[in-house]
Amino acid sequence: MLVLKFGGTSVGRPERMRKIADLLFETSGKKVVVLSALSGTTNTLVRIGDHLLAKGTDAAEREIVTLEKHYEAFATDLFSSQAYRAIGQEIVGRYFSLFRLLAAGRFDERSYRELLAQGELISTELFYHHLQERKIASKLLPALHFMSIDENQEPELEKISERLRPLIQTLGNVDILVTQGYICRNHRNEIDNLRRGGSDYTASLIGAAIKAAEIQIWTDIDGMHNNDPRIVKKTFPIAELTFDEASELAYFGAKILHPSTIVPAQKMGVPVRLKNTMDEKAAGTLISNKGSRGQVKAIAAKDGITAVRVKSSRMLLAYGFLRKVFEVFEKYKTSIDMVSTSEVAVSVTIDDLQALSNIEEELRALGTIEVDKDQTIICIVGNMIAEKPDALKLVFDSLSSVPIRMVCFGGSHNNISILLDTRHKDKALNLLNEGLFTIPR
Ligand code: ADP
Ligand code: ASP
Ligand code: MG
Repeated sequence: MLVLKFGGTSVGRPERMRKIADLLFETSGKKVVVLSALSGTTNTLVRIGDHLLAKGTDAAEREIVTLEKHYEAFATDLFSSQAYRAIGQEIVGRYFSLFRLLAAGRFDERSYRELLAQGELISTELFYHHLQERKIASKLLPALHFMSIDENQEPELEKISERLRPLIQTLGNVDILVTQGYICRNHRNEIDNLRRGGSDYTASLIGAAIKAAEIQIWTDIDGMHNNDPRIVKKTFPIAELTFDEASELAYFGAKILHPSTIVPAQKMGVPVRLKNTMDEKAAGTLISNKGSRGQVKAIAAKDGITAVRVKSSRMLLAYGFLRKVFEVFEKYKTSIDMVSTSEVAVSVTIDDLQALSNIEEELRALGTIEVDKDQTIICIVGNMIAEKPDALKLVFDSLSSVPIRMVCFGGSHNNISILLDTRHKDKALNLLNEGLFTIPR
């Protein structure tokens, strides 16, 4: 079986939805199709939810009206017959009644999460009926019947797999199963989600759960590029990446993949292919166990980082100091990305600031604390980059005009991480692009 995920821009216009149907029709074999919400929808639902939490009912209603018009026009264009246009309007009307019902009630965090889930529910329902209209046999598989997370927000892969197996066995001669990305149930059985961009993660979890032959992520670009194309002009797609490389790039900010996407696929050894819906012929990127070694493959950047430095002369020649520092972060369930040490100080980076003031207070018992906010981690990735003798030299030569706050190298064989002030990010990414890659003409 294949798992194919189509992102927001890939389903965001009626003609694109029709194109996905063509593509599925032309791809032989059984497949699970994971859809995102239409582009812009989740952002709008977030705004509506924020208004409602702040008791801004009028502002929420204005957003609802605009979104409703968008969906009415979308459904009219998507379907060709009168009968299916009526079905389309019924679907849209039903969802917008629910939005208004949620808005009229006591709106809390739980209603907020329910609201956010509607984007994927409506896109899959519209798409399923489009397939019906074209007489392409398919089934709608509700993600809320099998996708779950535990109390630590971690997906329950084994349970997901147990629930999916019988659902898939009843497929008979239907080749296409349509399901929602992003949404799930939490340990309280409430509607929840896998965080923004989570449809990639859904696809990978399903691929791992059913041990699919391949997980395909269809988006609006021809694969993973060597650098962030939103910031750097001359980037190019990478044909092959190892799971480790892709995992680091996703975790450290390559937006094309949700940060956790690669984890389940790698665990079950299912290759992930990144493809472009707007250019099907483009090769894209294959992520698997294979890949060339000793090369810089790509760069990614993760913003919103805070660096915390703990300085103490008691660290000198003392054992157990680092343990005490790390225990404070563990106590407040705050994960650390980068670490660098000197004889008398240790610097770490975090991206979750919820417990920062408590952490600072407890660390003060261990030494003086300095906190730098608005930092960016730039992650330079390549399988066995550590074996490339000039890798560090090239990185430092490229960044000679940029102030660097921290450097990590040697923690894994696959990356060099640099921490700098976010103000220098764009310049650093551009300089590294020129210094580390031979740009194809
Ligand atoms: P989708 O809606 O299909 O999930 P996303 O917007 O989440 O699509 O991801 C695709 C976008 O990721 C691209 O349009 C591109 O701007 C951005 N992006 C950031 N870094 C990279 C990278 N290294 N390679 C490719 N795309 C990247
Ligand atoms: N619709 C969700 C979002 O915009 C999930 C996704 O598109 O992957 O975050
Ligand atoms: Mg995405």
